[in-house]
Amino acid sequence: MQKSLSLILTKSTGEINPDQEKFLKIADSNLGRLFRLINDILDISKLEANKLELNISAFNLNEVVQEVVSSLYNWAKEKGINLESKLTPAEIIVHADKDRIIQVITNLLGNAIKFTPQGGKISAEVIPLAKAEGIYPGECIQVDVSDTGIGIEQKDLTRIFNKFEQVSLVQPSGIGGTGLGLAICKEIIELHKGKIWAQSKIGEESKFSFIIPKEIKKEAQDGQSTGQV
Ligand code: ADP
Repeated sequence: MQKSLSLILTKSTGEINPDQEKFLKIADSNLGRLFRLINDILDISKLEANKLELNISAFNLNEVVQEVVSSLYNWAKEKGINLESKLTPAEIIVHADKDRIIQVITNLLGNAIKFTPQGGKISAEVIPLAKAEGIYPGECIQVDVSDTGIGIEQKDLTRIFNKFEQVSLVQPSGIGGTGLGLAICKEIIELHKGKIWAQSKIGEESKFSFIIPKEIKKEAQDGQSTGQV
């Protein structure tokens, strides 16, 4: 459906009048929403049934963050937001599920763009840690996504990681959400034996951070299938 709409919208199939273009754009945008909603519901169902398995490989996290930032750059630019990555020049190799980590970073940066007004700033930073007290005993990596957006009240900072929680009083214009994104991020990060959390000053800024082990040790991975850590 998306491909067909795109062929008409890009006028590959011939001219369309402004009204037709307007309604086709609405259909295209709603199709996008439906697509995200279905994917989110499928992910949540898989997670609830313990059927989401990590596909672990080694990759450079700096490169992945840069890729996600580049893919969202135009959206931020259109909204008049400055989006940047703060990366060390050295490679940061992690053993994790690359597609799922891309999903988490895309969701956090997407939210930052949605909830930051024009003129705002967003950054994604990758910080290597020797260990993460109370999270994982070995080498870890922290990723921070900071924005100068509308912020989140202290009382809601944990609640937003629950399913279908949408707490902002101002609904973002454009792309609507499902309230499932952060719940999925939390499950994915916890499957990696990591932790995700948010800090914020209402009306000023939000910072979403997650920590994952550089490489999940064998015992911790085994714990994943038995439910033990
Ligand atoms: P969605 O974005 O689809 O609504 P999420 O689970 O990703 O769902 O986010 C849940 C809620 O958390 C959002 O609806 C919003 O109220 C709040 N939120 C998430 N990220 C931010 C952010 N960067 N700034 C302000 N509020 C946020």
